[in-house]
Amino acid sequence: MKKLIYMDNAATTPVKSEVLEEMLPYFSEMYGNPSSIYSLGSHSKVAVEEAREKIGKAIGANPKEIFFTAGGSEADNWALKGIAYRNRDKGNHIITTKIEHHGVLHTCEYLEKQGFEVTYLDVDEYGIIDLNQLKKSITDETILISIMFANNEIGTIQPIKEIGEIAKEKNIYFHTDAVQAIGHINIDVEELNIDLLSMAAHKFYGPKGIGALYIRRGVKIDPLISGGAQERNRRAGTENVPGIVGMGKAIELAYENLDENNRKLIKLRDSLIKKIFDNIDHVKLNGHPTKRLPGNVNLSFEFIEGESLLLSLDMEGIAASSGSACTSGTLDPSHVLLAIGLPHEIAHGSLRLSLGDFNTEDEVDFVVEKLVEIVARLRAMSPLYERVKEEK
Ligand SMILES: *Cc1c(COP(=O)(O)O)cnc(C)c1O
Repeated sequence: MKKLIYMDNAATTPVKSEVLEEMLPYFSEMYGNPSSIYSLGSHSKVAVEEAREKIGKAIGANPKEIFFTAGGSEADNWALKGIAYRNRDKGNHIITTKIEHHGVLHTCEYLEKQGFEVTYLDVDEYGIIDLNQLKKSITDETILISIMFANNEIGTIQPIKEIGEIAKEKNIYFHTDAVQAIGHINIDVEELNIDLLSMAAHKFYGPKGIGALYIRRGVKIDPLISGGAQERNRRAGTENVPGIVGMGKAIELAYENLDENNRKLIKLRDSLIKKIFDNIDHVKLNGHPTKRLPGNVNLSFEFIEGESLLLSLDMEGIAASSGSACTSGTLDPSHVLLAIGLPHEIAHGSLRLSLGDFNTEDEVDFVVEKLVEIVARLRAMSPLYERVKEEK
């Protein structure tokens, strides 16, 4: 097999070796159930609590406000359903955006069927919400504002601090899906007035199937999963001890080297964008030029199908995405690209290259070289492109 060039770090990341090393003993040596009272169990319990501390520290929260889940989707489901059901007596209105991850969007659609009302805020051409529209959408019935920290497709970062201030002033809970932001951006839940925050370890070099929901002390929320008394009666089920240990190590590593890593990533990202623009015409950058995730590049190539582009890149050993892992399974263009106003045909020609800690400038050069070839070959088959060329 050809050497793989992995530029799909927004879909998932590899587990770093330091993370794996910390996890390994918890599979078959330290396998005790954290709820058991003998020493083998209490070793696991200690490991879980150490990880909880690391995660709390990373976002400025008390460890008691961190609750482990089986990933980002569960955290999103819990935040929305848990708040909605528990606060039904206060109101039935939720505000979110049109560009949320399906973990939030589909949960909102489910809640609508249960009688809740949901406002889906528009975004501008860069994918940023309008704070005035947010303020105007608030009613006496509003119990929750759920707005993602950074978008998984186009990388746009929302004005979270301003949203937090609005929510706090109106006494409305503020949840943010920070799955793309945690481990990549400095986040302080106090400074930002965040009440609930979703995260997933596999987006920052931890294992899959483990995540957490930060729940501010005093927030009234129902459990999503009932059963045993784990997670202080809020999330039943024997803890995923190796996963939790891995998540703790991964978040610690991410914030230890954050500034240096981000400087490197932004340099690589901007170099990739520049080289593509220098060598390919009829291409557009989606998302905000600066308010974007350090590793995110999202482009639309006119006269091209994103799917064909992905397949051709795969043949060169390059892993990328045409929007999001979830949308590439369907024929509909991504809801995010439509929400920023792209016409269907332009949205269809989109490509997401998401860079991570293991990418290099050599890889960037290789990807640009291959993209130039592939785009030229695919466009040669497009009658529309031929006509545009002749008209020039
Ligand atoms: C990946 C992702 C999720 C889902 O996380 P899982 O761990 O795959 O369930 C939710 N929201 C965003 C923004 C994501 O990028």
